[in-house]
Amino acid sequence: LNPDKEHFSSEELDVEKKLRPLSFHDFTGQEQVLENLKIFVQAANQRNEALDHTLFHGPPGLGKTTLAHILANELNVGLKITSGPVLDKPGDLAGLLTNLSERDVLFIDEIHRLSPVVEEYLYSAMEDYRIDIMIESGPNARTVQIDLEPFTLIGATTRSGLLTAPMRARFGISSRLQYYNTELLTTIVQRSATILKVPISMEAAIEIAGRSRGTPRIANALLRRVRDFAQIKGNGSITIQIAKYALEALYVDAHGLDEMDNKILSTIIDKFKGGPVGISTLATAVGENSETIEEVYEPFLIQEGFIMRTPRGREVTELAYKHLGRIKSHNQGE
Ligand code: ADP
Repeated sequence: LNPDKEHFSSEELDVEKKLRPLSFHDFTGQEQVLENLKIFVQAANQRNEALDHTLFHGPPGLGKTTLAHILANELNVGLKITSGPVLDKPGDLAGLLTNLSERDVLFIDEIHRLSPVVEEYLYSAMEDYRIDIMIESGPNARTVQIDLEPFTLIGATTRSGLLTAPMRARFGISSRLQYYNTELLTTIVQRSATILKVPISMEAAIEIAGRSRGTPRIANALLRRVRDFAQIKGNGSITIQIAKYALEALYVDAHGLDEMDNKILSTIIDKFKGGPVGISTLATAVGENSETIEEVYEPFLIQEGFIMRTPRGREVTELAYKHLGRIKSHNQGE
């Protein structure tokens, strides 16, 4: 199960919307991030000002889009949503910006994928709430300056390393989202089950949570699939037996590791004797770019104790051998 939205059907993304928490109160985990955001929102609300521009970074499916919705709700303002790859002309951006009301939120997903022209254009909008637009063309062409309402830009990125320095500098608030532990994911699974009106035992919720790669989007996706098994193979309730049966049938790894996670581990073991191996060599060997490995895959593998970062590169741990059912030979990893 790949947590990236691009791997989800539109129907699944529709259900996802239903499961989305709408207020700080409904949002589970990311305590430190939330605590700070609550203060910033309260302060902005008291002063009746726009919230500072906010950047969320971290792996896919951890709640960046959800937090943008929550911030707009808590600020009691409108929200416009777009994404880096969609916004390819400055004109499109100008249209969005000039339609914002005072204190509104503009959410740009995958903000690291904005084109340089659009990005440049965004700078003055963020800094001075002002943009230059070109009117007419040919000999009559001229630029006019347009004042914008004070607004909040919320950017989300899985690849903070790819953001340009001037872009990064324009965000007053920047928060990194962390993977969720099993306890938090259990709470999320239970909450989603309630919304989907499917009974689930505590044990089953823990089982699903533990196999979700620390990611709410995966937890919710697994829950929906297990629910189908409960409906067809059981009496509609998700018991631990049904959960285990379904997760097995879905080939979900005991830790929720996906194909690329496992490929990274087996490559380090098979091709590099367990490591250490440099990130770019590893990236070439698994056919993924090194930033994605560093920002999307590696953090989870390190957190769960499958990989270690050493000065000489990445090394797999004993746990990785065990997980893949490999025996560590004597001359490996020495
Ligand atoms: P991202 O934008 O980081 O890729 P999303 O905000 O789209 O992730 O979240 C993916 C799904 O996970 C959504 O359906 C959302 O409801 C759910 N989700 C994310 N974080 C939480 C959370 N802290 N509590 C409950 N559900 C969450």
